[in-house]
Amino acid sequence: MTRKFFVGGNFKLNPASLAASTSLIEGLNKAELDPETEVVIAPPSIYLIPVKESVRKDVKVAAQNCYFKESGAFTGEISPKQLVDAGIPYVVLGHSERRTLFHETSALVATKTRAAIDAGLKVILCIGETLQEREADKTAEVCQSQLKEVVDVLKEADWSNIVIAYEPVWAIGTGKVATTAQAQQAHADVRSYIAKAVSPAVANDIQILYGGSVTAANSKELARQQDVDGFLVGGASLKPEFADIINARK
Ligand code: PGA
Repeated sequence: MTRKFFVGGNFKLNPASLAASTSLIEGLNKAELDPETEVVIAPPSIYLIPVKESVRKDVKVAAQNCYFKESGAFTGEISPKQLVDAGIPYVVLGHSERRTLFHETSALVATKTRAAIDAGLKVILCIGETLQEREADKTAEVCQSQLKEVVDVLKEADWSNIVIAYEPVWAIGTGKVATTAQAQQAHADVRSYIAKAVSPAVANDIQILYGGSVTAANSKELARQQDVDGFLVGGASLKPEFADIINARK
């Protein structure tokens, strides 16, 4: 297995000041990080450029969202082209908070993914089921239907610029982490869907991250699962333990 371990930090709407953002980055710059892990942090858009300019060079920066148009009358939006121009290599798309709070459909997420890839961005594509869907035994089905929209608009080669983040909605920010067996099963199902819907080669190479209440304490065991290639970390990415999660495979 040659997939590189990948840890993303999703800062969400945090921290609440430039000074606090600066001190968070200073902390990360001093931490000892496993050089074998790809690390990407996603600060709020207003801090993207200062974070990119001050963060250590082995940590890459992601936007938490973007629109699908290059420019124009789209108040409040940021375009993929602007991100590339600002030297931001990644974007997170389809996060459950965007799907739920901001009513983003899988079709819109797919359109944004297409536009981001075309502009030259790498995409951290989030998928995941609600508690109700899990209890109805629909986890694999929901993940597949979220992915299918993206499969339909991408070519096989585009997938080298996609990282999938499997984030069960019931585990996000709740302290209720998926068990290692639940995570491994969902990841294996996603990988086998990609094998069928895209190609076995893409399925073998694609990094599938787990997200939802990841902490230093639960990261080591999750990181040992065959199909868990890393994490997308929310709350804990704002704390010193983020370094321990980055080092979970060490
Ligand atoms: P959490 O968030 O780690 O705070 O549960 C994960 C995410 O939303 O990506």
